[in-house]
Amino acid sequence: MESRAKRLMTKIKDGKVKKEGNNSEGWTCIVCFEEFNEGDKAKILNCNKKGLNYYHESCILEWLKKKPECPMCRGDVDVGHG
Ligand SMILES: [Zn+2]
Ligand SMILES: [Zn+2]
Repeated sequence: MESRAKRLMTKIKDGKVKKEGNNSEGWTCIVCFEEFNEGDKAKILNCNKKGLNYYHESCILEWLKKKPECPMCRGDVDVGHG
């Protein structure tokens, strides 16, 4: 399902990591469990249940190839995740 993963990727914003607020959970890519540094390039998924989460582009792409869902809440990436 690689083309579906690529389509979902276009719905996820590119950005830079800003460590603000107290959502420290969101500063770790939960696919590879590596913590981001301030200013790192990342894919940003605004989870409607868990808040802002950062992912490495390659990590979230691999994840979406396996499952087309939000890694945090298992929700639909299309809905409320922008
Ligand atoms: Zn990662
Ligand atoms: Zn979510």
